[in-house]
Amino acid sequence: MIDYRLGYLLAFIFGSALGSFLNVVIYRVPLGKSIVLPASHCPNCGRAIKPYENIPILSYLFLRCKCAGCGAVISPIYPAVEAGMGLLTVLLLAYFGWSRELLLYGSMTATLLALSVIDIRTFRLPNKIVLTGALIAVVLTLVFFRDRVLSMALGGLTGLALLGLMGLIGRLLFRKDTLGMGDVKLAGMMGLYLGPAHTAYMFVLGIFTGAVVGVAMIAVGGKKWGQRIPFGPYLALGAIISLLWGDSLWQWYWSLVVR
Ligand SMILES: [Zn+2]
Repeated sequence: MIDYRLGYLLAFIFGSALGSFLNVVIYRVPLGKSIVLPASHCPNCGRAIKPYENIPILSYLFLRCKCAGCGAVISPIYPAVEAGMGLLTVLLLAYFGWSRELLLYGSMTATLLALSVIDIRTFRLPNKIVLTGALIAVVLTLVFFRDRVLSMALGGLTGLALLGLMGLIGRLLFRKDTLGMGDVKLAGMMGLYLGPAHTAYMFVLGIFTGAVVGVAMIAVGGKKWGQRIPFGPYLALGAIISLLWGDSLWQWYWSLVVR
């Protein structure tokens, strides 16, 4: 049995290395580029990134946020994604231990982090990544969670139905598309991981956090009513909260309602 602190350290290192790969996905997939070739290079001067310059987070600090070749500023999104995935992996380990759940929900979280950053940067949720996430969910469920196949299918349908319905209502109310098809497919993909109940929590939490942040942004003057905000990150946040605390929140809600 390894010391639990060493376990968390290993989880953080593994998570940040995974984050480093997610950065490649985040920057290349929306441009239609291969995620395998060419090797990592500076987007400004094309200088190849040496192995010791490619260490998650540390290289960014060591290089003082600049390319060693041309001095171009490296986006803080890179270390943020690496640190974020490292911390999320530690959180999932604390919750699920070294288990098959860690593998399943770690895959879900990595997919969601990549899609959230892409959605914020480009307002798009590339089909390739959503379908890859769905495929991983199906394969892992068939291999490790044979008893959850029905729950997986129902979760996927729940996600598609809830977001599809929301899109339909939005279209009837505002006479324009308020929700992209990407959001509907994203919810379907997450439903495969979460099952029907947690998919429903995700939906409610996603709308709630989206509304709170949306109103806050309008209040401080950054956004206007009707301006499009990417919904993907809120769904992703809803999915993580639902996964870790959904059941507790549900019980707490009912304890308030039923006296
Ligand atoms: Zn450069």
